[in-house]
Amino acid sequence: MQNHAETLDPPMTGPDQETVTLMPDPELARIPCQRQGLDCHPLVKVGDKVIKGQKIAETTGDRGAIVLSSVCGQVKEIAPFPNYHGVPVLTISVKTNGDADEARLPAYGSPQEMEASKLFARAHEAGLVTSYFTGEMVTVPLPGPDAQIKTILIQACPLETVFNVEGDMIIENEDDFLFGLEVLTALYPGAEIVVLETKKRNKTTAFFDQVCSSRPEIRLLPVELRPHEFQIRFLLQRLLSREVGRDESPFDCGVLPIFPPDIIALARAFSLGEPYIRQTVRVYGRAVKKPGGYRVPIGTSIGDLLISAGVDENKLAKVVVGCSLRGTAVARLDLPIEKGVYMVVAFSQEEVFHYENLPCIHCGRCVEICPVGLWPQKIVLYSQAGKWQLAEEEGVLQCLECGQCSFVCPAQKPLLQLIEVAKSEVRRLAGKNEEGRRKNLA
Ligand code: SF4
Ligand code: SF4
Repeated sequence: MQNHAETLDPPMTGPDQETVTLMPDPELARIPCQRQGLDCHPLVKVGDKVIKGQKIAETTGDRGAIVLSSVCGQVKEIAPFPNYHGVPVLTISVKTNGDADEARLPAYGSPQEMEASKLFARAHEAGLVTSYFTGEMVTVPLPGPDAQIKTILIQACPLETVFNVEGDMIIENEDDFLFGLEVLTALYPGAEIVVLETKKRNKTTAFFDQVCSSRPEIRLLPVELRPHEFQIRFLLQRLLSREVGRDESPFDCGVLPIFPPDIIALARAFSLGEPYIRQTVRVYGRAVKKPGGYRVPIGTSIGDLLISAGVDENKLAKVVVGCSLRGTAVARLDLPIEKGVYMVVAFSQEEVFHYENLPCIHCGRCVEICPVGLWPQKIVLYSQAGKWQLAEEEGVLQCLECGQCSFVCPAQKPLLQLIEVAKSEVRRLAGKNEEGRRKNLA
């Protein structure tokens, strides 16, 4: 019997096409407004005309952010529409009219000479964000001056073992990238810049070696990461050489994690006054003929992006937003690309793994590989029997959803899927109990 890893080529074929293609505006841009459960207030109404970069909505509070139109056109609808997780969020749909007018902000060439309040105001007005992976991608506005950021963590090179697009993007946009670092150090004075570097040498690592030789404020941190260690908690543990609690955010730890496309967006927001209205997304998988990097107007549908990447509909079997092991499979292709979407995988039939769910042979591989020491097969038995309390006692809520147990299982059991069922049932029941407790207290 073979395991998943032996029977399937890892569906992580790197893109052949290494340049970034600029996508045209879509006919209809569905721009998601609601973020991380915050309330959102539209600043436009149906029928209004908007241009690129115009402020169309804002969220308030500590993590408040603004939402910009990525296209010129007329507002057609303001209503909930599912995001790529399938969760309905307030979305402003704009029918494009083909115009190219763009609301640019004044350009600032010398961030080091600007007052901190102006720097943060610019980052806010341009709609800049940063993202990190906790098991799902979290996208938030850049933290403000009170955040006490001591380290800027560039999440670049670990992915370079597989992909080249981000590395090429840095090298092709070297001036923007270096200027983006300057802006970051002006925003967070005294912060050290740390670049996560794969131990495998490539042209991106060579680029950073050269940059670091003349800039002592940048430090390289060579790492070798297992799949689950891309989660921010594990990156922080490597960086800080200490345990990091599940509830600690990187900002609580004084760390700003940031991906290279967001550094380039930051540079352009200052040097050109360019609003953050396009997302750089890597597309790969055997169902597309032109894999590579695409600069996508925010609100473009996943389907339109795949058409630009030359999707073969006869081959297409499954679409995942995020990477192949830990991403989110989407049920429909009209869902919009938003900030924080960096990858889309278009799997062909031969890349999709079909679980056989054979009897467990008690090999123990799932236990051995689990990074948090769970007994996945036992939790799965409880899940199948609907024994949610036992699943909870067995630690199901600790599961990182990294998928490694499913990946190594020679019986090809859908372990992760069944663990996810148990996890959501345990959470649902906990929510019910809490509701009941509140009612009793009232
Ligand atoms: S139970 Fe499976 S999916 Fe969950 S953390 Fe362990 S190996 Fe990862
Ligand atoms: S469920 Fe775990 S113990 Fe059973 S066959 Fe799969 S990897 Fe081995």
